[in-house]
Amino acid sequence: MTALAGLLRRLILEEGPLDIGRYMTLALGHPVHGYYTSRDPLGASGDFITAPEISQLFGELVGLALVQFWLDSGRPRPAMLVELGPGRGTLAADALRAARVAPGFLEGAELHLVEASPVLRVRQAELLAWKEPRWHETLDSIPSTAPLLVIANEFFDVLPLRQFVRREGRWHERLVGLDEAGGFRFVLAPYPAPLSAPGTGESAEGAVLELALAREAQAQALGQRLSEQGGMALVIDYGEEKPSFVDTFQAVRGHQSIGPLAAPGESDLTAHVDFGALARAAQRGGAAAYGPVPQALYLRRLGIELRLEQLMSRAGAAQAQVLEASVRRLTAADAMGQLFKVLALTAPGAPVPPGFDAGEAVA
Ligand code: SAH
Repeated sequence: MTALAGLLRRLILEEGPLDIGRYMTLALGHPVHGYYTSRDPLGASGDFITAPEISQLFGELVGLALVQFWLDSGRPRPAMLVELGPGRGTLAADALRAARVAPGFLEGAELHLVEASPVLRVRQAELLAWKEPRWHETLDSIPSTAPLLVIANEFFDVLPLRQFVRREGRWHERLVGLDEAGGFRFVLAPYPAPLSAPGTGESAEGAVLELALAREAQAQALGQRLSEQGGMALVIDYGEEKPSFVDTFQAVRGHQSIGPLAAPGESDLTAHVDFGALARAAQRGGAAAYGPVPQALYLRRLGIELRLEQLMSRAGAAQAQVLEASVRRLTAADAMGQLFKVLALTAPGAPVPPGFDAGEAVA
């Protein structure tokens, strides 16, 4: 048994079954044995791969969208480029490189990274040292002095959530308990939760309600910062516009899907993002919200096809094949194109974010 599994087991023996949010927080973020605390999980030799690791086009187009918003906003200086959960720093590096096209942007931009993992902070420092990034544990310590340009790619899906299962007209919390062999298993709380989340009254037997107050709190804080300081945030992740009432709690290890209780601390734990809930939380914080739009549509609107053509015309045959395959992976409906979505948040009254239509503002 791993050190983290031992610790979780002891905790369950002392306190009873844990809610899924607590299990996620410990498994991912335990200061010594947590999944993100103890390793770089990305890339071919790791557990999963993300859009910026698939193709540089992703970070470049996101960078150009941020720069276009900055131009549309009257070139505020300084502006603060903020990334939440920057992974290896690849997205920020590609975005900053593309941003060179706008004179004055880089000189006036500060780089702030919100990153919990000491291992990944080292990777980020390697790629981004030239831009003198400053690291933060949370959004709280980011200065409140200048407009924000925020990127969060696959950040919200790792923040904790809780699940409730419909049984005979009531919601029972789904918890993590122990099985006879000392492993982990899901159990339902014996008593219903005193819960009446809006729109959930008619749910069918067995429906699963996923509530992510930690995610909503972060989205609300982000919305408040945008409304006070100005700027835009791009939230890119997998999930739905509305809750789907199915279990989306999942784990990956070595690019394979495994049970979320199989290897705590040694697998990435995530769940789909409820974009509607994030948009409403950001609006409570005072921001405007747009979308979400599917990643394929967003990248096409930002010109991914044109950029691909340009690169292909200069590429050798093998390189062209790699380029085409990576764009396909980012945009195909059976890959990341539809499940991944982009939500934009802005200060109220700010320009419409590039890649969005005014009519896509969330009412
Ligand atoms: N955005 C990157 C990495 C996504 S993985 C990419 O697209 O490749 C999730 C990232 O969020 C990692 O950098 C991880 O260390 C970070 N992270 C996870 N939980 C966090 C938390 N509670 N606070 C800050 N960062 C966190």
